[in-house]
Amino acid sequence: MIAHHPPLELLFDYAAGVSAESASLLAASHLVFCRECRDRVARIEALGGAMIDRLPGEAPAAGAFEAVLGRLDEPEEILPQPEFDAVTRTILPSPLRDYLNADLKDLKWRRRSLVHEEVPLGRTEDGAKLTLLKIHAGKGVLNHTHKGEEFTLVLQGGYSDADGHYGRGDVAVGDPSVTHRPVADPGEDCICLTVVQGPLHFTGLVGRIINPFVH
Ligand SMILES: [Zn+2]
Repeated sequence: MIAHHPPLELLFDYAAGVSAESASLLAASHLVFCRECRDRVARIEALGGAMIDRLPGEAPAAGAFEAVLGRLDEPEEILPQPEFDAVTRTILPSPLRDYLNADLKDLKWRRRSLVHEEVPLGRTEDGAKLTLLKIHAGKGVLNHTHKGEEFTLVLQGGYSDADGHYGRGDVAVGDPSVTHRPVADPGEDCICLTVVQGPLHFTGLVGRIINPFVH
């Protein structure tokens, strides 16, 4: 069961096809785990389509709606699927696999402390910093604070902090002003994707239009 979802704004922008690369990767990866958010995105897309149908001859806010239209009309591009090993397929959701285009075993884990390791994955087009984080089973790490907002998607195992428990598929939204100490569940290393953004890249426009209809 997914207990922690990404912010609705992120799903709005994702559904409208206007989110930055890092936000798209996060949203698409969470959707693999979360039926509830898949339903939300489907509702947002349907509402967007219905609203476009009802627009009078001249469409206001042309840019935003064109972006929505573009996404709805574009056929999905079908690319040849690379082969990944079983462990990679089990742990990484397909959007993240495709983004990394590598098996987990080929990634270089760097030991950051006695109890945690990281794989720096570089930055997305929008400048967000991606990292794979592994906290050893049953251990706690001091999570440093960042200037930008941090999203954490749990890929394997789980952890607890002052805000509660996060399991596979859950998304934690880090408040940059708070330092917390996640403790991995016993029995299995906890692997997460962290996305640290500068200022958030939500346009907010689609959200403002559709928000009243989704609640
Ligand atoms: Zn969700």
